Amino acid sequence: LDADEFRRQGRLVVDFIADYYTRIEEYPVRPAVAPGFLARLLPETAPARPEEADALAAALRDVRELILPGVTHWQSPRHFAHFAATASNVGALGEALAAGLNINPFTWAASPAATELEVVVTDWLGKALDLPEKLLFSGGGGGTLLGTSCEAMLCTIVAARDRKLAEIGEERVGDLVVYCSDQTHFSFQKAARIAGIRRGNYREIPTSRESGFALSPKALAAAVRADEAAGRVPLILCATVGTTPTAAVDPLRELCAAVAGHGVWVHVDAAYAGAACVCPEFRHTIAGAEAVDSFSTNPHKWLLANMDCCALWVRRPEALTAALGTDHDVILRDPSAAAQGGRAVVDYKDWQVALSRRFRALKLWLVLRCQGVEGLRGFVRAHVRMAAAFEAMVRGDARFEVPVPRQFALVCFRLRGAVQVGEKRGRGDEVAANELNRRLLEAVNATGRAYMSSAVVGGVYILRCAIGNSLTEERHVREAWSVVQEQATAILAAATR
Ligand code: PLP
Repeated sequence: LDADEFRRQGRLVVDFIADYYTRIEEYPVRPAVAPGFLARLLPETAPARPEEADALAAALRDVRELILPGVTHWQSPRHFAHFAATASNVGALGEALAAGLNINPFTWAASPAATELEVVVTDWLGKALDLPEKLLFSGGGGGTLLGTSCEAMLCTIVAARDRKLAEIGEERVGDLVVYCSDQTHFSFQKAARIAGIRRGNYREIPTSRESGFALSPKALAAAVRADEAAGRVPLILCATVGTTPTAAVDPLRELCAAVAGHGVWVHVDAAYAGAACVCPEFRHTIAGAEAVDSFSTNPHKWLLANMDCCALWVRRPEALTAALGTDHDVILRDPSAAAQGGRAVVDYKDWQVALSRRFRALKLWLVLRCQGVEGLRGFVRAHVRMAAAFEAMVRGDARFEVPVPRQFALVCFRLRGAVQVGEKRGRGDEVAANELNRRLLEAVNATGRAYMSSAVVGGVYILRCAIGNSLTEERHVREAWSVVQEQATAILAAATR
């Protein structure tokens, strides 16, 4: 790495990114491209030699001319799809810093300060979210920074599995049962499959519109009892705070009570909504978390830490390290580890699937230092306020309904279809309304002026407006609503023609 050249090239890249952000609103949020468009524009093989004197400048030109027109602009203030992947100056620069230092802190000895910063910063974040002390290092538990919630779930299931099999015998792996709701993110099922849980032992408990799509403790208790009566072994419950379709909140306290005494590991997936707990007014959404075994959230979703960053806390780190730890890697043991003076250290390779890992703590630490907890509260609250304003606009138009109450900064809404307010809907009406809403979403997204996503809950197709981008202001939200109204008018007119 040539320091002078790095300085020069670094400026080019920083300027490029800054220019992108100043022009981001000029791009349609969703690109109008067809599969294969980029491959047709690029050479079939990599160049044998550097392309030209300033290959980086040439590549940046291609990024601007070929790639940017074909990306979905996740940082656009008009991106309201899925859940946001938030960005901030220090989130991006923290990533750059970590990439520049290129440290691989798989053990304490492999990079003591990087490991210790992760220990400190996961406790900082846990305290900022007001997590139970038991989940923090300061309370006997501890946290780690992984890439995604999927990884957090896999590590957790494997820890729960091995702890249980140590009790009941490995031959009973086929009896282990995992529990969640029909709103739980598919990554839980995927993780269970990877962890060797039989497909037939995955209990997806149905939820209903009446209960706001939250998991019912009664239904969970009944499922656990039925499995035990049949000789199976309840293993783990994944409760969600902020489900993907509607941001529903599973009642942690009651769910923990429902499985108490059955040896079930309770994991909380708060990938999106965990961030809201920086605000005391949202802390009630994780009431009862004192009884859970693990908790994960993605600071890259709503806490300004650029991709990727998932914080996982566990009450008993030894359960994780028993399942994921490796002991025979003499090569990794640094002789200078004797300098640890016999003190226990965290070797994060034993908390995750892979050996190598990124120095994610740096960007999260920068975000926490540069925003402060108050800064993060202001960020979350601004989005919640904008979502409330959007919800009010939807409710003010009789053609639309808000089928589930707004949660956090996610508004779910839909056109009522041919059925008027208060009229009873039949199955045929529902199917027709679903099709109408599908067309509405496509029409809104095709404008390039707003980008939203959808979900199907209880057989009902809904549009999702998830507010959470750093650049989003009230005017963008108002404009998005105008786009929805314009497209709805056109679609309803076409439908009645
Ligand atoms: N859990 C919930 C509630 C989510 O909304 C998502 C993604 O949006 C995930 C898990 C998966 O997250 P990741 O992409 O970090 O694996």
